[in-house]
Amino acid sequence: MENNEDLLKKINILREQVNDIDNHLVELLAKRKGITNELIQQKIDAMLPVLDKQREREIISKHIQNIDIINETFLNKFFHLLFEDSKRQYYKYENLFSIHDYICRRPIIIAGPCVVENELQINTIAEKLSSYGIKFLRGGSFKPRTSPNSFQGLGNEGVKLLSEAAKKNNMYSVTEILEIEQLVKNYELIDVVQIGSRSMTSYGLLKSVGNMTAKDGKYVLLKRGFSATLSEFLNAADYILQAGNPNVILCLRGIRTFEQIDSNLRFTPDLASILELRGRTELPVIFDPSHSTGKANFVVDISNAALNIGADGLIIEVHNQPSTSEVDAMQAIIPEKILDII
Ligand code: PEP
Ligand code: MN
Repeated sequence: MENNEDLLKKINILREQVNDIDNHLVELLAKRKGITNELIQQKIDAMLPVLDKQREREIISKHIQNIDIINETFLNKFFHLLFEDSKRQYYKYENLFSIHDYICRRPIIIAGPCVVENELQINTIAEKLSSYGIKFLRGGSFKPRTSPNSFQGLGNEGVKLLSEAAKKNNMYSVTEILEIEQLVKNYELIDVVQIGSRSMTSYGLLKSVGNMTAKDGKYVLLKRGFSATLSEFLNAADYILQAGNPNVILCLRGIRTFEQIDSNLRFTPDLASILELRGRTELPVIFDPSHSTGKANFVVDISNAALNIGADGLIIEVHNQPSTSEVDAMQAIIPEKILDII
């Protein structure tokens, strides 16, 4: 009995200490916010860029190196949240931010339909997504279909519709190209060039895209080949980096394993590769919950799992009427579902 009382006393003393620290923490956070508000305002007045990714990285890595007891992922997330919070109120000055600034935000959310179908469809989806603060609109127009008899996308017309919908809603367009000519023809309409899983080993295409985008650092979203090892994936990224474009985003999108013999999973979500890549590259790593599962009702959970273990972002297939989607209807979620993730 006495032992129990002693124990309770000890617990209470420790709780008091924790409360004390929490009070200090919140006070310090408020103080920090006041200072960062002032700092950001100064930058805005001086027309200087608000975001400084390099400094953010330095702050995080300094603390990761100095503190052992706190988990690295936690520190990463904690500081990203702090940085995001300081910057949030300035996002209304949208015109101060460039695509690079948005790529620096965490999480990077890219969403939109598998394929652009018509103007109404892409505009409806874009409007909804942008109202949630999403800045990247995906939509395929040159589709790598398994059968030549399946719908191949709207081609150049689709890219135009995607770009218009993106611009109208202050978003950036993300679309896949299969051949370099498609990029040449649509260069100004594509903000992020997607190289799909099936093209990851098209080394000629990687070189041409690298050379073409090196001049302006246009972002390239490279998806992992579904049978590629991580080394092969990173080597593919090197083709673009070595051509002189450092702005590559890696995307894990599920791999093919024996699981597909008797499960309904379209691919096997390669979630642990997020952790593996973290140690092997500085490039942002995003995850595709849509193609990796092929199932709309798995998308939210897999997305949250990916973010929880440190993915820098997601690319998600969204449709205003999933059942009518021309391609990949089974894996499309309605735009509102995104709110369960971000
Ligand atoms: C896509 O994102 O539209 C796509 C076709 O994905 P993947 O290349 O990963 O199959
Ligand atoms: Mn798709």
